[in-house]
Amino acid sequence: MANPVSISVAIIGAGPAGFYAAEALLDRHADVQIDIIERLATPFGLIRAGVAPDHQSTKLVSRRFEETALQDVVHFYGNVEVGEAVTLDELRGCYDAVVLAVGAGVDRPLGIPGEHLRGIYGSALFVGWYNGHPDFRDLRPNLATPAAVIIGNGNVALDIARVLVKTEAEMASSDLSDHAAEAICEGGIRDVYIVGRRGAADAKFTTAELRELGDFEDCDVLLNAAELTVPSEIADNRELRLREKNLAILRGIRRSEAARTKRLHFRFNLAPATIDGNERVEGVIFERTRAESGRVLGTGEFERIPCGLVVTAIGYRTSPLDGVPFDTKRGRYPSAEGRIEPGLYVVGWAKRGPVGVIGSNRPDGTLCADQIIADAKASERQSAKPGRAGLEGYLALRGVRSITFDDWQRIDAAEVAGARKSAPRRKFTTLSEM
Ligand code: NAP
Repeated sequence: MANPVSISVAIIGAGPAGFYAAEALLDRHADVQIDIIERLATPFGLIRAGVAPDHQSTKLVSRRFEETALQDVVHFYGNVEVGEAVTLDELRGCYDAVVLAVGAGVDRPLGIPGEHLRGIYGSALFVGWYNGHPDFRDLRPNLATPAAVIIGNGNVALDIARVLVKTEAEMASSDLSDHAAEAICEGGIRDVYIVGRRGAADAKFTTAELRELGDFEDCDVLLNAAELTVPSEIADNRELRLREKNLAILRGIRRSEAARTKRLHFRFNLAPATIDGNERVEGVIFERTRAESGRVLGTGEFERIPCGLVVTAIGYRTSPLDGVPFDTKRGRYPSAEGRIEPGLYVVGWAKRGPVGVIGSNRPDGTLCADQIIADAKASERQSAKPGRAGLEGYLALRGVRSITFDDWQRIDAAEVAGARKSAPRRKFTTLSEM
């Protein structure tokens, strides 16, 4: 039996969080109209612009999202920026429910002296640059330097390190953007340091990602064996096993016998204190740390790592939106499990903060769909809101040329057709190319 309540939903953001919410709504409600509104011309958010270019299997989930986008009741509006083309208030006037699936696209600052120097980039910018995100394709980081420092011990730090140390042949089956491939190939980086403020056992790297470090074609991975121990204060058995597993992978990494051009150094228990340089970064001064009851304490001992490039991979924040309460400390929208108020919802990193993998967005979508349906039923009347027609009215009024899913499929086909050798695609990185 058809559901009696017809619901119009606008989802802002076409990344995994937005698509999982759309999918859950389609699964649960027969009479729903869903419009996915995206600032960029291209869908899939972090799948395209965040996931590492050499992790193509992770990107396959976009096929599932494509199935959702191709449903009759779902429309994609790319190249539509909320706040410019249409305001959030206007959207709320048009739709029964608006879902914020805008991710967390702003780098957390380090908050140390010297952070303003040239040659220092947050991972949102740097990853966006090598992934061909139109906002960052012109970043032009100077890679003509012998050493780069990556600050942070999470998977994003590992992604960046792989991209910097892998050879052209190792990246041949990736979708690394042309401009980044050229810059990395022509740049002079020989030493890449991944630096964590905690010990090796407390790093946030996950097992699968650590396993990829063993066999680079032209890069040695350097670790200090004495640092690869689990602190005695960890009592939980499961936690101990997990950490031991990761350390065992690191201990198993051997220096190659053949000479290698590049070196990837893992450095632990070093907290960034100051970045030095004259206009451009020339080095990072770290304070040696020790852990006590889970806290990181400085020891008063310092060490400087000379480098001409710094990438911070220390987490992200969501951008505030006019009219939506914002938790400035945590950098996200506060909500009751995703419901900001009836009619306004949040999913993904904008709700939970920047943790978890693509699939972690799925339960958010389910919960959000249930809340939308419950709130629509509670209002006990047919919606009088115009939905899609209202949005299209605003776009026409402001002369906005939106990109449909058909348009995207043409862009996609052209990217795939333009791919070189074993690469999956050759990305267009500007709207005009698209
Ligand atoms: P993350 O896993 O939270 O790691 C952030 C790192 O930055 C931590 O080592 C943290 O240290 C450090 N940090 C934070 N503030 C710092 C500061 N002021 N100074 C020095 N270090 C600082 O974040 P992420 O790497 O950005 O990844 C985000 C999420 O995406 C994670 O859940 C990750 O697993 C996921 N991801 C998954 C994949 C994959 O599955 N292949 C790839 C990329 C990302 P503390 O621990 O001391 O706070």
